[in-house]
Amino acid sequence: MEVSRFLRVAALVTAAASPLGAQTRGVTHGVRTARLVIRNATIVDGNGTPARGPVDIVIEGNTITAVVPLDAVALGRGESRRPAGDVQIDATGKYVLPGLIDAHAHLQSNRSGHSLGGYEYNLKLWLANGITTVREVGSESDTGIVAVRERSAKGEIVAPRIFAYPMLNQAPMPRNAAEARARIQRFKSAGMDGVKLTGVERDVMAAAEDEAHKVGLRVAHHVGVEETNAWDDIRFGTTSIEHWYGIPDAAIPDMRQHFPANYNYLNETDRFRWAGRLWREADPKLLDSVLVSMVHANVAWVPTLDIYEASRDLQRAQNQPWFKDYLHPSLEWYFKPDPANHGSYFIGWSSADEVFWKENYGIWMAALRDFERLGGTIGCGDDAGFIYQMYGYGLIREMELHAEAGFNPLKIIQHCTGNNAKILGQEERLGRVRAGWLADLIVVDGNPLEDIKVLYAGGTSAMRDGKEVRTLGSEWVIKDGIPYNGPQLLREVKAIVDKARAAK
Ligand SMILES: [Zn+2]
Repeated sequence: MEVSRFLRVAALVTAAASPLGAQTRGVTHGVRTARLVIRNATIVDGNGTPARGPVDIVIEGNTITAVVPLDAVALGRGESRRPAGDVQIDATGKYVLPGLIDAHAHLQSNRSGHSLGGYEYNLKLWLANGITTVREVGSESDTGIVAVRERSAKGEIVAPRIFAYPMLNQAPMPRNAAEARARIQRFKSAGMDGVKLTGVERDVMAAAEDEAHKVGLRVAHHVGVEETNAWDDIRFGTTSIEHWYGIPDAAIPDMRQHFPANYNYLNETDRFRWAGRLWREADPKLLDSVLVSMVHANVAWVPTLDIYEASRDLQRAQNQPWFKDYLHPSLEWYFKPDPANHGSYFIGWSSADEVFWKENYGIWMAALRDFERLGGTIGCGDDAGFIYQMYGYGLIREMELHAEAGFNPLKIIQHCTGNNAKILGQEERLGRVRAGWLADLIVVDGNPLEDIKVLYAGGTSAMRDGKEVRTLGSEWVIKDGIPYNGPQLLREVKAIVDKARAAK
């Protein structure tokens, strides 16, 4: 390259990278405009590719219409023209990701009858943590979840996109294959997106899956320690295995874990205590063949590592920093150990239990790494609302646990965006920063490849220019082209919590 051209390119790059003239302007919280441009962004896309920038991202209505590179090479070729916009967000020094997708979520307005004051608390915590889509796998009410989904789609409420996967097993329970098929058909005509199986007998599972495939509903399976295990998911074509039970179970040489003689599955303390000793019974060679078979059958895995974390470190789970300002009193009540509340099994939880669980996690995480290496699809969900996990925060914690498992940060972001879109069957609309895809994006204050904690609502502490600062988390959360200011969402959550605490 001759010197004059080099200097010209260098000057253009300086202009492109300068925040001058690129300040955020005209953006209103909750208001979609005809043409929004995010300027000077560094992108991490949802397909596992490396970060790249600076780029300008053009959003028209609810769609990403252009991703314009501003790097020296593009500028030198004359390929970059700064696109115009009605309003703009300055993303200089920030990272832009596809909006996060929570593939295992529950929308909750109350916990065992203790009100959360409607859905607003839950929905805003999801968005504040950068979640623009949730797969709802078992709601309080099937008609309720469809109503929320539709209001969200129309932009009438502040909420992520919702995909509804109601529980197959709800009263009256389908008792046989015919009743399972009828239930699936009813879900289809009610406009559901999929179905969640849990606690199913093998014949009911086989019929439900067969019918679901016929009518085009996807299947999420929370495998319990039951009649079925991962071999059944492989055989019947489950879309995704939720959590992890059923996978080590399928690799135990004696076909059943060696429980103590007085074990009772319905006793939650028994159940979670011995679950911590489950992975150690899986035979590595058999486990390998289970994982290979899952890959061949296209069964994805949504591990929800976060929701068991209290089992290996109870004090950590009980003392999370966001509890101080954002834990709703009804959730606080629900999280207190009480045998009447699902998942609150920690009365008498011992250091020995925690040690077994630490080992359990180690084997589990290694299996997840093997599964991905073999070509398997790993998704990302948090199951929040149970066991000390708060909506939204749980998913970011899940990402940190994927890092602990040893996954490359680029792959972790892919798990929570592109892979989850694929599990939803929405990979041609969601989970990417790509022209033609829906405008679900987050503008993150900080580099999540360096520190996942920058994704937490309310940010994290960081050193910048020699000073300690509090970062802003997802400063802008754009869902369906509508920009929401992350810190503003969090202030609204705090107001809900303050009011509920004052009313107590
Ligand atoms: Zn769940």
